[in-house]
Amino acid sequence: MTKLYELTIEQAQQKLRSGEISAVELTESVLNRIAAVEDRVQAFISVQADAALDAARAADTRRANGDDAPLLGIPIAIKDAILTKGTTTTCGSKILENFVPPYDATVTARLRAAGAIIIGKTNTDEFTMGSSTEFSAFHPTRNPWDLARVPGGSSGGSAAAIAAREALGALGTDTGGSIRQPASFCGIVGLKPTYGRASRYGLIAHGSSLDQPGPMANSVMDAAILLKIIAGHDPHDSTSLNVPVPDYPAELRHSGGFDGLRIGVPRDYFSAGLNPVVEKTIRAALAVAEENGAQLREISLPHTDAGIPAYYLISTAEASSNLSRYDGVRFGLRVPAASMWETYFETRAAGFGAEVKRRIMLGTYALSAGYYDAYYLKAQKVRTLIRRDFEAAFEQVDVIFAPTTPDVAFKLGQKVDDPLQMYLSDIFTVMANLAGIPGISLPAGFSDGMPVGLQILGPALGESVVLRAAHAFEQATEWHKVMPKIE
Ligand code: GLN
Repeated sequence: MTKLYELTIEQAQQKLRSGEISAVELTESVLNRIAAVEDRVQAFISVQADAALDAARAADTRRANGDDAPLLGIPIAIKDAILTKGTTTTCGSKILENFVPPYDATVTARLRAAGAIIIGKTNTDEFTMGSSTEFSAFHPTRNPWDLARVPGGSSGGSAAAIAAREALGALGTDTGGSIRQPASFCGIVGLKPTYGRASRYGLIAHGSSLDQPGPMANSVMDAAILLKIIAGHDPHDSTSLNVPVPDYPAELRHSGGFDGLRIGVPRDYFSAGLNPVVEKTIRAALAVAEENGAQLREISLPHTDAGIPAYYLISTAEASSNLSRYDGVRFGLRVPAASMWETYFETRAAGFGAEVKRRIMLGTYALSAGYYDAYYLKAQKVRTLIRRDFEAAFEQVDVIFAPTTPDVAFKLGQKVDDPLQMYLSDIFTVMANLAGIPGISLPAGFSDGMPVGLQILGPALGESVVLRAAHAFEQATEWHKVMPKIE
């Protein structure tokens, strides 16, 4: 029999509605699972067991009174880069170690309003800067498929928690791949929405023109269920889009599958540096789509090579500005010193880790007088070219199939001292953030016993077609049903 903590959100919804299980039973099952595996996986920075059980009891009472909110009684984990009122939110940094936010992020508030039980805050690279979760100031998270490997990052805690069945769904944030890359490494589904599709209010900012929160889950349907709840306009975020939110789960129930779908195959992505097994896996996924009625077309995204340099200039420039607020005055760590300037200096020196300092310096340099035109402005121009590459591609195709990452999860410690190698693993994911378009990663096979992710990209506000293609692939394959054995 399926254990309660192994249920998808969709299955749990049905069992809660029919009265077969209670929110308390489901939440206890998930908390017991956390107690059983968390010493090895270490997906969480904090677990709110008592608050979760209180919320579960309240959910059962609400249901008894006729309430049928979509996530009523469903345990969800939230990346510790997203504010949760009254619950410590560290963003993986010592500088925010004791920070208790006075308000909820909009996405948190929407989950609560939908009845979700917030079970815990998941680990992240400090200020979401990283691709392995090793830059968390607290502890690394381990990949449930192989505890000697990283889960990816920066939403590695959320991805590992979903793969290890320590929550039924989770939220992550994605600035350059932080939802999709860990989803790929941990064999789960992770979706980065169109820039502006979901509100950034209450996300701890990394690169404000790139950041998006999004769902992470064990099925495409579950990602659709969560996306419907978190998407939509928010007056607190001037960049959130004021356009209606489709009923994504209902669309999937009546979707046309692959029939007639035009899929782009970017020739620029199948180049040197791609693990041959990853390439074979993506080619096999394309064959599945074609057998089921899709048309494949080769396309070109000629500015692919410029993606990493553009991303690491723009994101560090924005981060250097965003992180200036951590000065020991208003919130977070404060190291008192003789003068105001020394207090700023000592606080930031003690509170930030090495990777964050590296990025603040890179970003400050890129923005400084005399270098702005050569670096930041040029990167912005490259960004426009990348966006146009995608606009041209989406005149010919409905979605693009690509690898999520060039290789599977690497070993803990393997890249931690080599920032360039770490940055290069983001090559296929940063594009969607630079272009502002949606992308999903979902399980498509294994290499060396580790999951390989298929990335599906769509045009701006094309979440529906991205989910449709992902769902069609999931229906045609069994990869999402394989669970890791944690040992
Ligand atoms: N790995 C990328 C970086 O380190 C992306 C991070 C993210 O998306 N938050 O910047």
